[in-house]
Amino acid sequence: MTTSMNNRPMRNGLHSRHFLQHQPAPAPVNGEVRRNLRKPIRIMKFGGTSVGDAGSIGKVVEIIRSAARESHVVVVVSAMSGVTNQLVAAASQAEAGDYQRVAAILAELRRQHDAAADALIHSSAERSSINRKVEELLQEGDRLCRGTMLLGELTPRTRDAISSLGERLSAPLVAAALAECGVASEAIEATELVVTDSCHGAADPFMDLTRERCHSGLRPLLELDIVPVVTGFIGATTDGILTTLGRGGSDYSATILGAALTADEVIIWTDVDGLQTADPRLVTGGRTIPEISYREAAELAYFGAKVLHPKTLRAVMQCGIPLWIRNTFAPERPGTKITPSGPASAAGVKALTALNEVALITVGGPGLAGVQDVLGRTFRTTAAVRADVLLISQASSQNDLCLVIASALGKGMVEALRHEFAHDLAHEPAKHIALDPTVAMVTVVGQNMRSVPGVVGRTFAALDRENVNIIAIAQGSSECTFSFVVAKQDVKTTLASLHQEFRLGNPRHLATAAGSAASDEDENYYQPWEPVATGRPNQEQ
Ligand code: ASP
Ligand code: MG
Repeated sequence: MTTSMNNRPMRNGLHSRHFLQHQPAPAPVNGEVRRNLRKPIRIMKFGGTSVGDAGSIGKVVEIIRSAARESHVVVVVSAMSGVTNQLVAAASQAEAGDYQRVAAILAELRRQHDAAADALIHSSAERSSINRKVEELLQEGDRLCRGTMLLGELTPRTRDAISSLGERLSAPLVAAALAECGVASEAIEATELVVTDSCHGAADPFMDLTRERCHSGLRPLLELDIVPVVTGFIGATTDGILTTLGRGGSDYSATILGAALTADEVIIWTDVDGLQTADPRLVTGGRTIPEISYREAAELAYFGAKVLHPKTLRAVMQCGIPLWIRNTFAPERPGTKITPSGPASAAGVKALTALNEVALITVGGPGLAGVQDVLGRTFRTTAAVRADVLLISQASSQNDLCLVIASALGKGMVEALRHEFAHDLAHEPAKHIALDPTVAMVTVVGQNMRSVPGVVGRTFAALDRENVNIIAIAQGSSECTFSFVVAKQDVKTTLASLHQEFRLGNPRHLATAAGSAASDEDENYYQPWEPVATGRPNQEQ
């Protein structure tokens, strides 16, 4: 079962007192969105840990309450932390036919949401209304799981429907907690707002349709100073079939709504201070980056920084809306600001990332030396197994080609390549197409890095001093990254030595890179990273 866009489930339920009988608005002309809106529009997205329990939701309510005084706030929420993982597990258990496990997971989710509602909502009428909503959604989950068991098959559409329940549970809870504290609010399912293609598990929005829906669905609420609390992660096709944007996709939901409403700012509230100069689990002395460009942030997200979903920046790239990453558990800290071009005079290395779950595939050897179109055939094969290629490097004499892809796809990819080149390699040992799962990929990110001489030289000299062997290298396609492959066991040493080489832990370095004057007062601004919530870096899923 899916949520139809016409049956507007939440509005008939919990917050019907805020329900507005507005006429469908005419198609918006860009900018018209702001008519009658006096204050700036802010989209505030709260991740899984931020809404992870009653105590955290209390902090979220405070943040929204204070922001709502000076701006029109649209809230986007993730599922409570861990919930989506549980739902995905329930879906797999259903496919495997284990109803007991499914029932146990759903019972635990009921307990978790009811406990939060009990702690947050004092009016018994409101509380039982929430308990009913929770029950209704979990029954829907139960029916979806039973259907899956009956068929013995979990379709992508059903997986989306099951995994969407976490956001559909958390949004009414947060809306009710806001109402409890005197902030007028309404929970809204994004199936009413975000119109997507039908690519289940990785859907993308149709922005024109989404803009129209946001215009008619959200603007009237904002005009009345009502805070919409929208489910992140989900959307629906033009036929009303629920889709998800991909794991961690609530960040993307926030920027989609930001672009659709031409918001003044999008703020991603999470459980870390912002984008870090390096993964704090691997490097000590890392710092929060105060300001960074869209491009650099997108590269960081793509190459392993877990704080942002890689598609997040796509939605705002064309409209230039600033995006912030801030810490729900330390709202006094400034966070990271992501702007179209980053700070002025920002050339140079800004941050390091590492991807551990990758594998190196090599295609080569004398057997392929004279073979036509090795590259074309290799990439047709990667496309066929739907592998994202993270790094490519080629040494020409024997057509030797290295590819880095996600390790989960490594085995399938090697089999597919051996099949593709079976005829050419009939008399060659199979090792000429090989898989090495013991590697990691490190990426150095910085605006206009190509125009700063010596970055590559300094990188390799630093690694040489530590005896780290570089297995493959590629200059990223943009001018702001280059990546290389090392043994997994060398990742920590690699990051530590480069962090030191480029003085990324030094506040003055960041201040200079950020183009802002370094003064002693700035020392307070650049807080060193330190654990605030539950563990690092963010623990949202
Ligand atoms: N709840 C979804 C997930 O865990 C989406 C998100 O949190 O961004 O993947
Ligand atoms: Mg996230």
